[in-house]
Amino acid sequence: MKKVMAVNAGSSSLKFKLYEMPEETVICSGIAERIGHDDAIFTIKYNGEKDEQILPIKDHAVAVQILLDKLLEKKIIASYDEIKATGHRIVQGGKYFASSAVFDKDTEDKIESLIPLAPLHNAAHLVGFRAFKKVLPEVPAVAVFDTAFHQTMEAQDYVYPIPYEYTEKYDIRRYGAHGTSHQYLAQEAEKYLKDVNHPRLITCHIGSGASISAIKDGKCVATSMGLTPLGGIMMGTRTGDIDPSVMKYCCFCENKDAEEMFQIFNKKSGLLGVSGISNDSRDVIKAMNEGDERAKLAYQLLVRRIADFIGQYFVRLGGADLIVFSAGIGENSPETRELVCDAISEALGIIIDKELNNELRGKEGLISTEESKIKVAVIPTDEEIMIARDAYNMLLK
Ligand code: AMP
Repeated sequence: MKKVMAVNAGSSSLKFKLYEMPEETVICSGIAERIGHDDAIFTIKYNGEKDEQILPIKDHAVAVQILLDKLLEKKIIASYDEIKATGHRIVQGGKYFASSAVFDKDTEDKIESLIPLAPLHNAAHLVGFRAFKKVLPEVPAVAVFDTAFHQTMEAQDYVYPIPYEYTEKYDIRRYGAHGTSHQYLAQEAEKYLKDVNHPRLITCHIGSGASISAIKDGKCVATSMGLTPLGGIMMGTRTGDIDPSVMKYCCFCENKDAEEMFQIFNKKSGLLGVSGISNDSRDVIKAMNEGDERAKLAYQLLVRRIADFIGQYFVRLGGADLIVFSAGIGENSPETRELVCDAISEALGIIIDKELNNELRGKEGLISTEESKIKVAVIPTDEEIMIARDAYNMLLK
């Protein structure tokens, strides 16, 4: 039994989950938030109890030190060297990484060189990694990339129709996101596809960020997110795919530059922008059910875009054997699943059991009936276990 820490560092936060591997038992989990502030919040969940503390956390290294002290204090570990490996989530692996990589100097340099493609994310991940390295210099680490799973796409699925020299010179292409989640869903889905020779899967990771992937024989064929997480289906605050001239014309009308409008398309659009109410699907669904017309339109847009991508990927895969719903909305919102399935049922012959669908919140199971031409399942995603598995398999096995 070996203890492995899965880490997801953001610009002002650090999420962690400590596992006993290879058993995959979660020992404890938690988050340091508002790093850089005097009133930062450190939360740890252990043995069914939640311990929350408000305290100054100057930087990520201090957050790691607090975490390790807590592990000792709660007797979760007897000494630091019980932690045998760490695994770090990295959003952008660019063209370099088609799988997870040992976190050596070369990996670090490549992640650093990709910062322009994911300025908020990659920079923060490196800060998180270096914080662990400072406090636990001898503990080996792996980098697990959100983009790696999508590297199996063919050029026709990732090249943009811009001047080709831009593609070549600047590596501008579709990279996708949530790859660790889509890969996890593909692996978990195998149990529903035992009698199928070359399984074709459409995985819908629908949370505040959202993406859909087409997967054949366990490999990603196409995915909805693009160069950055702004692309693909509409999201809580992001536009998803739109005509690029909307950007130019909005800049002209509002007298704003491209950077300002880019921020608006990232942070003030999507469900929030259209409904004017919230980026949280729960609030928008509630308002829609109370008769708010803009909330209704916002939700129709979201459902339409999910349905359109499923249709597109049905064609891309030459059919589909299973559609999976996952992440915050996909796992917990039967209303959304029902609306999406209603939108595709006539074309794809999908029939769901509405009672079964209503019962499934945050739990795994099939929601399609025996008669449905395509199976439909809900599978809660787990990106952290994928990180812990890679850390264990690559460093400790
Ligand atoms: P994620 O980014 O995967 O954590 O998903 C977060 C989003 O899931 C939230 O912003 C909500 O919109 C959505 N969500 C969570 N719980 C529910 C629920 N019970 N019903 C509808 N949407 C939910």
